[in-house]
Amino acid sequence: MNVALIAHDNKKAEMIDFVTEYYDILKEYSLFTTGTTGKRIMECTDLEVTRMLSGPYGGDQQIGNLIAIGKMDMVIFFRDPLTAQPHEPDISALMRLCDVHQVPLASCKSAAILYMKALGTKE
Ligand code: PGA
Repeated sequence: MNVALIAHDNKKAEMIDFVTEYYDILKEYSLFTTGTTGKRIMECTDLEVTRMLSGPYGGDQQIGNLIAIGKMDMVIFFRDPLTAQPHEPDISALMRLCDVHQVPLASCKSAAILYMKALGTKE
């Protein structure tokens, strides 16, 4: 099962907290990230991830491609809705593809925690 992890800059610390907290579950899956999110995850944990380009350079579209061809099973995308993102069209396209292809998308930590509870048991 393939899981995408993406976090906007103001949400990267929250993403690190999340992957650390749910390490035991996430380590069982193939993880795909945008560039900087993945770099931070690998610096802070020993999770192995496949890093795409940074979001503003096309990483969101690369993950969108995997969704479109049926190679992505879940997307965890910690969005920052309070800060304008220069690549907003790519982000919207990625989220649209999740809906088109029935790929579950968690756009904030509380939703992602529910997904983790669905994937495995955690005390
Ligand atoms: P980043 O991209 O992980 O390279 O920062 C995320 C995004 O901005 O969509």
